[in-house]
Amino acid sequence: MYELSTTPRDEGTVMNLDPPDEKHLRRAIELSRRARAAGNQPFGSVLVQASGEVLAEDVNTEITDNDITAHPELKLARWAAANLSESDATTSTIYTSCEACAMCSGAIVTSGLGRVVYALSAPQLYELKGWPTQKVMRGITVLAEAGHHITVNGPFLYDEAAAPHLGFWVPG
Ligand SMILES: [Zn+2]
Repeated sequence: MYELSTTPRDEGTVMNLDPPDEKHLRRAIELSRRARAAGNQPFGSVLVQASGEVLAEDVNTEITDNDITAHPELKLARWAAANLSESDATTSTIYTSCEACAMCSGAIVTSGLGRVVYALSAPQLYELKGWPTQKVMRGITVLAEAGHHITVNGPFLYDEAAAPHLGFWVPG
C-alpha cells in the first residue's frame, strides 16, 4: 500500500497541509537551517507520535561527524526502532525538510514508522544542488516497496525549505 499526495508533475504545488503538520514541518525546516549554521548539510527531521507529542528531533551531522550515515532521518529511524513499540511506530510520523534519501528510507521502512511528510522533493533538491535531475534516486520509491503501509505526503513549503540550501551547494 502506498499513498503519495502529489504526482511528480504536480511537484511544487502546495497541497492541503493541516496546521499540526505545517507546524512540525516548519520545525524540520528550522532544524535544517540550524544544521547549516553548525557547519553541516541543511537537513533536519522531527519524529511525532499520534498524540502530537514530539518524540525526537535531529539534524544532519555528516560533515562534523565525518560520517556519511549521519542523516537526521536515519538517526530518528534508529531511535524509533530502539524506543517505540510496533504499534507506536506505525502511528508515528517523521517530518523531514527534504524527501529522505534511499538509505534513510530503507531505515524508515525497517523501523516500522507509518507516515512520512516532507518539504523538498528529491528532484527539487537536485535542482537546488545543480545536479542532473534525470538521475534522481527517489527515497519515496523505497517507501513504496515497504511491506507495511506507509503514508507519504509531500512536497510542501518549497520557498521556506529551499532557503537554507541557497548558496550552499557547489554544482557538480
Ligand atoms: Zn538520508
